[in-house]
Amino acid sequence: MKNYYINDKRKLARRRRLIPILLAGLVIVCALYLAWSHRQDILAVFGSPAEDSVATDNATTDNATMGNATMANATAVAAEVPEPPRREPVQECRIQDGDTLSSIFDKHLISQTTLFQIMDADEQILALDILRPGNTLTFTFNPDWSLERMVLSVNPARQVVYRRVDAENFEFEEVIHPGTWVQQTLAGGIEGSFFVSAQNAGLNDQEVASIAELLKGRINFRRDLQAGDTFQVVRRQQYVGDEFTGESQILGIRIICRKRTYDAYLFSDGKYYDREGNSLMRAFVRYPFKGSQRLSSAFNPRRRHPVTGRVSPHNGADFRMSVGTPIFAPGDGVVTRTLQHRFAGKYIEIRHSDRYSTRYLHLSKFLVRKGQRVKRGDKIALSGNTGRSTGPHLHYEFHVAGRPVDPVTAPIPIMSSISKKDRAAFKAKVAELTADMDLAKAVDGPRLSQAATTN
Ligand SMILES: [Zn+2]
Repeated sequence: MKNYYINDKRKLARRRRLIPILLAGLVIVCALYLAWSHRQDILAVFGSPAEDSVATDNATTDNATMGNATMANATAVAAEVPEPPRREPVQECRIQDGDTLSSIFDKHLISQTTLFQIMDADEQILALDILRPGNTLTFTFNPDWSLERMVLSVNPARQVVYRRVDAENFEFEEVIHPGTWVQQTLAGGIEGSFFVSAQNAGLNDQEVASIAELLKGRINFRRDLQAGDTFQVVRRQQYVGDEFTGESQILGIRIICRKRTYDAYLFSDGKYYDREGNSLMRAFVRYPFKGSQRLSSAFNPRRRHPVTGRVSPHNGADFRMSVGTPIFAPGDGVVTRTLQHRFAGKYIEIRHSDRYSTRYLHLSKFLVRKGQRVKRGDKIALSGNTGRSTGPHLHYEFHVAGRPVDPVTAPIPIMSSISKKDRAAFKAKVAELTADMDLAKAVDGPRLSQAATTN
């Protein structure tokens, strides 16, 4: 016992001697950490990490070549305070994962004031809220380095140009290239899931999602399909030159199961029907609220700004209503945005199909989340007065094929089947598409029956 006690005492003494050494170590570690984080601050001011690593690499190479301690120190100091990047009058930026408009503007030394002016111009199109990797931004500067022009390239077929009109304002213009549509018929058989089988037949993720959305009310893709069932799809894809723009449209889909056939055909009215002419899309209701609300500002794509006189479109209809009024989905769909914008305030976007989407601005509260499926009549939000708003109201937008239309007057899909007068034309369309499908099914091979039909 006694020995143990003495041993413990000695251990204790040794530990006490260790404490100052440990403390000293801790101080050194802290000092090193501070130096490191300070270095990050310096670098953050002068450029992107990628540029910095190049600068540091150069410094290292220089050290090796010179083999001189003093010079090495000098270059090390130079590397910590690199020259600001040389500015070009036209600069391009390819969007990468994690980029935000504000981080990109910082990188290109564009002021926050200009950022807000651009966002102001963007309010009626909201093209900058979803920057996707691969999109590009091209900046054109004036000799005094004020921003003159910014072009967002979403894909080869779609650009949005933001142009300076005066010291405080930008205007936007959407540039759409019609491109060429290439029609193909693809055929395949079910092996495993529909998703994998459709991919094997040559359909991309977005096309498979569109098909699933189209037929979701009719078929349970997991339960109703079996190995050996077949499907045929007529699709068209948009090209500008040789480049696929990412835009595609399903013209017809047929899934032949042992007992039943499920199908959908796109008619010239932009809606899908089964072969009997029954609509596959549930009808919309005209307004996303109950009762009547006063229209306080109408849809007007050529509205002029009362002060500047410049064209400042109003791409929705404003309805005056008290804060907290419930907003309902006017049709079935998927919530694609729940965002907060400096000028649009809290807003929601719902994608109802390839063709239809709606937006709701200046909300006070979201009642749905991004990615959520909604049905017509579901409560999605409470109206509000957020963002730049002159009073409590709902700004409601209805988009058809990517373009805003007047939500009060535009023809929205309310019919449930093909009308009598269109019946013959619809039957002819179904016959044309199914003939292609039959041919593709007979080939059942690389599933390409008819390539490069352009229109
Ligand atoms: Zn409005």
